[in-house]
Amino acid sequence: MSAKRRIAVLGSRSVGKSSLIIQYCTNEFVESYYPTIESTFAKTVNFKNTDYDCEIIDTAGQDEFSILNSKHAIGIHGYVLVYSVSSRNSFDMIQIVYDKIIDFCGVTNIPCVIVGSKVDLEQSRQVKPEEGQKLARSNDAAWVETSAKNNINVARVFETCLSEIEKRTPNNQAE
Ligand code: GDP
Repeated sequence: MSAKRRIAVLGSRSVGKSSLIIQYCTNEFVESYYPTIESTFAKTVNFKNTDYDCEIIDTAGQDEFSILNSKHAIGIHGYVLVYSVSSRNSFDMIQIVYDKIIDFCGVTNIPCVIVGSKVDLEQSRQVKPEEGQKLARSNDAAWVETSAKNNINVARVFETCLSEIEKRTPNNQAE
């Protein structure tokens, strides 16, 4: 039997949410994929000897007001919050989104991975790794830097999310 896990991917526009999910689910980097509507991807993953049926939700919020809606707070097991290492604004958005989720869910903590994307753009980096780590630590979240383009740490994002979910969900009872 496999466990179902619903993971929502949130973050500012153009940080590479779709690219990250598509790279993970299809092993491709699609340069010109610009969805304006929310879509859901499915992948079955074997992680630590357990099969997980993952449903990964690619959200399409545009700004701090539309980035999270109530359906992202219901029935979601874990969150992937993405900023681009080459965009300070997208980094500043992470705490805002995190606080909104906490508020919506009425909890103090959520299974969450904070992701610094586009590490291949090292020459235009605006957010240092230490800043990402510090933000994650202060919210008791995990942190990973990735590149969907060069397929760096992409699987790790989702595996870390599964492990954050397990940590907070005793006896595999996430439903
Ligand atoms: P979304 O709006 O957050 O879903 O972002 P997209 O996945 O549509 O990506 C926005 C733009 O960033 C596109 O032009 C992508 O090709 C580009 N992009 C996404 N991931 C990466 C990456 O890892 N490195 C680089 N250099 N560009 C990326």
